[in-house]
Amino acid sequence: MAESDSGQRRMGGRPVFVLSDDAERTRGEDAQSSNIAAGKAVSEAVRTTLGPRGMDKMLVSDTGEVTITNDGATILDTMDIEHPAAQMLVEVAETQEAEVGDGTTTAAVLAGELLSKAENLLDDDVHPTTIVEGYAEARDIALDAVEYLADADLDDDLLRQVAESSMTGKGTGDVTTTKLADLVVRAIRHVDGEEGIARDDVRVHTQTGGSSSATELVEGVVSDAEPVHDNMPRHVEDATVAVVDEAFGVRETEIDAEYSVESVDQLTAAMDAEERELRAYADALADAGVDVVFSTDSIDDRPAGFLAAEGILAFDDVDDDEARAIASATGATRTSKVEDLEDAELGTAETIRVRTFGDADLAFVEGGSAAEAVTMLVRGGTEHVTDELERALADALDVVTAALESGGVVPGGGATEIAVADRVREAAAGVEGRKQLAVEAFADAVDVLPRTLAENTGMDPIDGLVDLRAGNEAEEGRAAIVASGERGTVGDPVEAGVLDPAAVKREAVESATEAATMIARIDDVISAA
Ligand code: ADP
Ligand code: MG
Repeated sequence: MAESDSGQRRMGGRPVFVLSDDAERTRGEDAQSSNIAAGKAVSEAVRTTLGPRGMDKMLVSDTGEVTITNDGATILDTMDIEHPAAQMLVEVAETQEAEVGDGTTTAAVLAGELLSKAENLLDDDVHPTTIVEGYAEARDIALDAVEYLADADLDDDLLRQVAESSMTGKGTGDVTTTKLADLVVRAIRHVDGEEGIARDDVRVHTQTGGSSSATELVEGVVSDAEPVHDNMPRHVEDATVAVVDEAFGVRETEIDAEYSVESVDQLTAAMDAEERELRAYADALADAGVDVVFSTDSIDDRPAGFLAAEGILAFDDVDDDEARAIASATGATRTSKVEDLEDAELGTAETIRVRTFGDADLAFVEGGSAAEAVTMLVRGGTEHVTDELERALADALDVVTAALESGGVVPGGGATEIAVADRVREAAAGVEGRKQLAVEAFADAVDVLPRTLAENTGMDPIDGLVDLRAGNEAEEGRAAIVASGERGTVGDPVEAGVLDPAAVKREAVESATEAATMIARIDDVISAA
């Protein structure tokens, strides 16, 4: 049976069209090398951002929007990547981000290097299947090594170090990572209950402008919403709360009726009716005993006046996400009709107050009776800073959660990687046949991480690796690239407080191996036009 390049097959003389005419097809070594090149290019793009002295990338979208970041996941997500194999590396970063929230650069760089080593093996005529088997064996040894190096005995000091390690190198503006790390650990401890860590109950609220002194942990929810009337209380204790999704105003009549008023009495009657309608919101809320109301919709001036007259504090146009958090913290159920408000739909909070920051008011809902929500309130000079701060904090919150919930911490700064590479290399000696080459290649690929860290901290990468290996030989897992001052040096990561969650390394090894072997195994790319 013959097959032409357009995927046309001949069976008994009759041509059978498998692919459409304009489908493109690359095969064999061409497909392999183009896929590998694409994967390597993606990993190369994030390589320089790895580690505390990693550089930032400025990404400009097709609409001209600018993002400045050091975050691997964000870079890969924002880049417009089309090549299908390159896209697989982006997925590695996405999986890493979704599973453990940090280590995206590590995973992408490792995947790229595994591909590069696989390319060398393919050139030496090692069969893809042998590479896949060798990599899988090496991966298991690597995972065991991570397990061995992990320390699950975590106190707050250690957790602060983990949080700080995950944030170093990110532009956090004026706020020190030490201060942020402390907030992160306090926040996680706050939501650490019998059923584990309620990570979603930790929120981050950033505020542009002003000094970093406003950085604080709020035991509750913070909202951008402002009171709708000046004569409302700005501080309510033991507040009964309603969260509504209803616009307070004159209901628009469905038919555009035009009616003429023929007497003063009629006019007064019409005005009375409208006034009753507008007053009804405040009346219903007051009857239900509500002190504070949050609406995701608008509240017009006149109903706002009636609410103020009843002494009710009201916020409108509340962000949907914030409304959900307020409802969950206070135990309120969102309602779309205050007229039918029932007691069971109301929530309570110890205090609700409005505080002014610069020229903006923020609402603080503290001590909600239903859930232990906390908000990290952080200020940054510009939006670029607050955006990067938010990403850094999200990473830090995730790593502390990962350290507590899945397997403790391992030494950072490349110490774990050097030890892992060493163990894999040692094990390779016992592997038969050509697979041994693949296991060795895996060990060499892992070296890219400490080598890159050394490079990015201004050290000579070769000398750096040699020193690391010697240090690891002396005491396993205790030799790292430690960034301090101008240049990195080789030092003890535990003493220097450079620690990463074990889960981050585990996930990086797993997802990078999976992507690299998947790409190496492909020898045929068929794409629809
Ligand atoms: P990723 O996206 O993989 O998390 P990062 O840019 O956050 O990439 O860099 C993570 C690496 O930087 C980890 O290997 C971590 O151990 C290392 N690291 C963090 N802080 C330091 C430090 N002070 N000195 C040396 N290495 C550090
Ligand atoms: Mg990181």
